[in-house]
Amino acid sequence: MAKYKLEYLWLDGYEPVANLRSKTLVKEFAEFPSLEEIPLWGFDGSSTRQAEGSNSDCILKPVALYPDSTRRDAAIVMCEVMLPDGEPHPTNSRATIIDDPGAWFGFEQEYFLYQGGVPLGFPEGGGFPQPQGKYYTGVGYESVGDIAREIVDAHLDICLDAGINHEGINAEVAKGQWEFQIFGKGSRTAADQVWVARYLLLRLCEEYQVDVNWHCKPLGEGDWNGSGMHSNFSTDHLRDVGGKDYFEKLMAAFDKYKNEHIAVYGPDNHMRLTGLHETQSIDKFNYGLANRGASIRIPHSFMTDNAYRGYLEDRRPNSQGDPYKIASRILQTIATVPTK
Ligand code: ADP
Ligand code: MN
Ligand code: MN
Ligand code: MN
Repeated sequence: MAKYKLEYLWLDGYEPVANLRSKTLVKEFAEFPSLEEIPLWGFDGSSTRQAEGSNSDCILKPVALYPDSTRRDAAIVMCEVMLPDGEPHPTNSRATIIDDPGAWFGFEQEYFLYQGGVPLGFPEGGGFPQPQGKYYTGVGYESVGDIAREIVDAHLDICLDAGINHEGINAEVAKGQWEFQIFGKGSRTAADQVWVARYLLLRLCEEYQVDVNWHCKPLGEGDWNGSGMHSNFSTDHLRDVGGKDYFEKLMAAFDKYKNEHIAVYGPDNHMRLTGLHETQSIDKFNYGLANRGASIRIPHSFMTDNAYRGYLEDRRPNSQGDPYKIASRILQTIATVPTK
């Protein structure tokens, strides 16, 4: 028998962006437990904007389990927040996702590493480094500084140890800006993993006295890129059947529900979706082949043999968006389009 440290992770009730919360349960198991062996737990919802003090109990329902290689005999337990009567809490965005094992998502999470209130590598006491140009996928101290690569590499290893399906990482266009990509099959898999990867990055950065800035336009106006979370998606029908007619009907539905999509694609997105810096304006919807200025980009692979088959990239979600809400909305819009 060994005592395992189970780090229960959940999203709190803050608006417009939920924060990650976690606490440790110590429990004895003969070997590394399975998800089914992890018990329900609870927390004080009055401290997380999820309940009144007079009736404060919220329930943590384990939904995914990840080994945690940074602590001995430890795991991270992703949870949904439930009401005492067993119904999903109103803040439980994961519970709104249509169950579809054939839905696949790939999220490209961009973010800035900050220290002392400025991105890593910005001069202390104000001013700016060299303009954007050589930072994207750059190498050398002048481009990426010293500790950033150590952080992103350590983060990648911890995530891979946890079984998170990273597909890649890269230095981004602005100084101090980075990206990781996570792909998953099943309507909730990648979204769960993005939240756990965010948690692991925040926790790792504590050691470096570095903050992760998830805001979509932390440097405001000026010639500095914002941060997105491009959301790549496909379904059985899109991958196996596709076709021009279905595709055009699907895009008409995305156009019709444009505002509903923007509403869950992350706060302050008007600052980022300006029509500049590889974005479409927030009030417009369009799509285009290989067009990085479109709302939805059609990858070249989608047009092979003119089949209109494969995955699509919604470029509007931002870095602070909740991947649960994003996946939920995309699948809801797809569900309005008949597949026969
Ligand atoms: P880019 O920066 O050019 O947009 P990336 O390689 O960063 O490209 O991201 C492409 C994303 O598309 C990856 O996250 C990948 O997992 C995802 N993806 C690839 N195939 C599919 C698919 N069939 N369904 C959903 N997502 C996919
Ligand atoms: Mn990318
Ligand atoms: Mn990118
Ligand atoms: Mn992309």
